[in-house]
Amino acid sequence: MKILVMKFGGTSVADIKKLKNVAIKVKRNSKKYKVVVVLSAMAGETNKLQKYLDIVSEKSSYSSDLVITSGEHVSVGLLSIILNKLKVKSICLLGWQIPIITDNSYGKARILKINNKIIKNYFKKNEVIIVPGFQGISKEGKISSLGRGGSDTTAVALACSLKATRCDIYTDVDGVYSTDPNIDKKAKKIKKISYEEMLEMASLGAKVLQTRSVELAMKNNLVLQVLSSLNNSPGTFIVNEKNLIEKEMVTGISYTKNEAKITISGIPDKPGVSSLIFGILSDSNINVDMIVQNISQDGLRANVTFTVQEREMNLAKKILEKNRDLIDFHYISTNADVSKVSVIGVGMKSQSGVAKKMFKALADLKINILAISTSEIKISVLINRKMTNKAVKKLHKAYVL
Ligand code: ADP
Ligand code: ASP
Ligand code: MG
Repeated sequence: MKILVMKFGGTSVADIKKLKNVAIKVKRNSKKYKVVVVLSAMAGETNKLQKYLDIVSEKSSYSSDLVITSGEHVSVGLLSIILNKLKVKSICLLGWQIPIITDNSYGKARILKINNKIIKNYFKKNEVIIVPGFQGISKEGKISSLGRGGSDTTAVALACSLKATRCDIYTDVDGVYSTDPNIDKKAKKIKKISYEEMLEMASLGAKVLQTRSVELAMKNNLVLQVLSSLNNSPGTFIVNEKNLIEKEMVTGISYTKNEAKITISGIPDKPGVSSLIFGILSDSNINVDMIVQNISQDGLRANVTFTVQEREMNLAKKILEKNRDLIDFHYISTNADVSKVSVIGVGMKSQSGVAKKMFKALADLKINILAISTSEIKISVLINRKMTNKAVKKLHKAYVL
């Protein structure tokens, strides 16, 4: 019998009524497939747990992961009870019982290995397996969490390990849209999208799927479907680019509001300076995204601008100032009032004019571009944060999505 992994996000398991709805969908599929269900915590629960951790000023540790992953225990337990009442045999298996083994980086652990033997044994007994998302067990034998939104990754990792037919991600929207439907009501549902495009969209801000889950699906050629838990209509299929007949020039628009800009002015214009600056940041585990270097006027001094996560901006500044003598710069300025807006599409590989249209649309809105970065299938610009929504809507219109 074929295997199906069904994942339900927080809003889909927000109360008992919603859990009963989940149980009905699971029951229906359990007649056709061996089913693994992966659940998030009930909506709002993980945020509540995060607040407790903020109050006690606990960063990522074994104890904080024990707290943050606990919301999922409630939802899986309740679903199992409801399924058993519907005469569907089910068993909850926690991350450590399977086990889903991760590295020791608490708060953002990566899955190293999944032992699917126990799951297969329960399949033989015709039981539905229910797994809490977002948790594993570290190499040192402690509960670990996969980072916010990590239930998507749990579901995809299990589906890959079990060679499932498909992994269905049930959420509060009925698919992947050309942009966040909560920002632009004119956003259109995409029927099929390639892994590459989805990967760019997720990493550029479309939180509908955790980026790592898309990476994993792509690596294993696993078909993903994003669909609504509230109706029965088909969702968006995320597939290999080969299976897309028509390749859109631009498939979607994404945005992130969690980056900040740092400019170092008056750095020496000579080889080795960038390597020194970004080496220092990398040694402190600070991720840098967009980078722009200005050519110096006098051939002696230049400026470099780059973006980091907003929460790391002050730390990055402090570290660079500590190394002022070594790097030899004039001053540093920071700006957290920025956002990154991106246009994404595999068709960009073969068609021209995408950048021109983007810059024209932003110019029409008198939006100043602070930095640009590109890949084969995306163009991102950094702009003033308060213009984000206007820019997203304008670009959506410009590409006739
Ligand atoms: P879940 O709790 O089910 O994991 P999330 O809140 O993580 O759900 O993801 C769903 C949300 O992603 C939607 O409510 C929507 O606002 C947001 N989103 C952002 N960009 C997109 C997009 N391009 N298509 C669909 N949803 C998007
Ligand atoms: N409950 C966790 C979170 O809110 C994991 C998830 O839902 O994917 O981030
Ligand atoms: Mg999510």
